Amino acid sequence: MPLRIGVLALQGDFQEHRAVFESLGAAVTEVRLPHQLEGLDGLVIPGGESTVIVKLAHRYDFPDALRRFTDEGGAVWGTCAGMIVMARELLEPEPEPFSLMDITVSRNWFGRQVDSFETDIPVKGVPGGPVHAVFIRAPSVREQGDGVECIAKLEDGTPVAVRSGKLMATAFHPELTPDTRIHELFLRMSAGDISSV
Ligand code: GLN
Repeated sequence: MPLRIGVLALQGDFQEHRAVFESLGAAVTEVRLPHQLEGLDGLVIPGGESTVIVKLAHRYDFPDALRRFTDEGGAVWGTCAGMIVMARELLEPEPEPFSLMDITVSRNWFGRQVDSFETDIPVKGVPGGPVHAVFIRAPSVREQGDGVECIAKLEDGTPVAVRSGKLMATAFHPELTPDTRIHELFLRMSAGDISSV
């Protein structure tokens, strides 16, 4: 049976994630209501605008359902705005994140001058050389809890991807490049492989 992957489809670039997971053979659901989380192996919270995603998620009663989903062993991967939504704490006053992962995050960390840039970085657990990482008004991880592992950083040491069990957050957008290796990593995590490489 194919893995069942949900893409949170409230706002943002969920369709790009959907296309990649479908190309890898997963059964993809666009999740717009909490009951659609039932039976999923993994969920992606896409890039977009974190304040809008959080506002809509509250309107449809997602916060408790998302915590239940992770408590019951569902895998979750947040990209960019998704990382912000997953954080335990933000350095900025808004939005109020959902505390799915023990990370403190700063939104728009790279400021206006370089608010979008691309670079190649190695990602732990992803074989075959560096990943081309696209950053668009990206956040960064400022603090991480004991159980959280940094799996990618920029040359200056800024952490930009983290993993903890079946949870992963990337500040960049693998769904905007033809390289599917991080999606494949998330499929392995969703299937229960939480080994760190
Ligand atoms: N800066 C955006 C936010 O705060 C995230 C940008 C993105 O997802 N590409 O929500």
